Amino acid sequence: MSEDFYDVLGVSQDAGEDEINKAFRKKAAKYHPDVSDEPDAEERFKEAKKAKEVLSDEQKRAAYDRMGHDRFEQAEKRGGFDGGGAGAGGFGGAGGFGGGGGLGDIFEQFFGGGGGRRQGADLQTRLSVTLEEVYEGVEKQMTINRPEECPTCDGAGGTNPQTCPECNGQGQVTQVQQTPFGRMQQTQACPNCRGDGQIYEETCGECRGDGQVTRETTLSVEIPRGIRDGQTLRMEREGAPGEQGGPKGDLLIEISVASHPDFEREGDDLKYRVPISFPQAVFGDSLEIPTMDGTVEMDVPAGTQSGERFRLGGKGMPRLRRRGQGDLYVSIQIVTPEELNTEQREALEAFAEAGGEEIEVEQGFFEKIKSSL
Ligand SMILES: [Zn+2]
Ligand SMILES: [Zn+2]
Repeated sequence: MSEDFYDVLGVSQDAGEDEINKAFRKKAAKYHPDVSDEPDAEERFKEAKKAKEVLSDEQKRAAYDRMGHDRFEQAEKRGGFDGGGAGAGGFGGAGGFGGGGGLGDIFEQFFGGGGGRRQGADLQTRLSVTLEEVYEGVEKQMTINRPEECPTCDGAGGTNPQTCPECNGQGQVTQVQQTPFGRMQQTQACPNCRGDGQIYEETCGECRGDGQVTRETTLSVEIPRGIRDGQTLRMEREGAPGEQGGPKGDLLIEISVASHPDFEREGDDLKYRVPISFPQAVFGDSLEIPTMDGTVEMDVPAGTQSGERFRLGGKGMPRLRRRGQGDLYVSIQIVTPEELNTEQREALEAFAEAGGEEIEVEQGFFEKIKSSL
């Protein structure tokens, strides 16, 4: 069933939002269960809807491109995208991935492993990067404090294990409960031994029985070219240790891109403001414009107005996991001189006069003070 979302909609990898919406409308017109006679219409419609939902959400799409179809679907099934992370702007941010936290949890509780072998929690952290680092795509070292299996007791929490009397060493207890689905048997990790099936005569001194200790760890994080402020990277199996030999959780890293002294970023485009003088604007000039990749020459034509924008194509930020770069928009700011020497003043007065302008020159601040004395 699972087919690549780009193929489902019949769009290319770099399709924009409009193209995706258009492609979806076309599919919907063909397969909407209310209008279609095709035997698998409902299925196809659902697929198209799903594809559109993922591809038109920037963060989900980035995750999809990074993980590929199969891993993305697995992660989603695991509820990975909700990962308790909505609050910190994780993947759950934009309304979550349907199902997470609702039915999924209940089913897991009833039918999931139960026997204590649980995946560790996802951890969240934040990493600050510069615009240059995002432009280049770098590997960055990051030091975090995270729970690790206690080395003293190997995660057991104590020494001299005894069979837990509460669950007779089963590690789980079964309860019958009234639920929205009727009477159901619920198997839970034993609260007495926390699913271990064993209790310890002597609690481990290092972890105080938790089986986990917090350790400082340095990780190497790949910063992909073009990542945006607020996007989240997922490092699989770098989260908290699992219980009873279960797999580790993931580490979610929210990227914070520091603001740049020269450039303002808007999506993949950059904006730069360049001050020029009045004569430069009048006569035109060739300007040196900084880019993320060295300076370039840009010609400003004669008669340029303040606020006018020029586009330097492909001089913006790289597009995340796609080919190409955004553009650099250079906006012109004509600077009015605040002080003139006598020669400049006379030249400008002559300029105004030649244009037939009559300017009522206001008294300067200090002159006003003097005249009021
Ligand atoms: Zn320990
Ligand atoms: Zn027990």
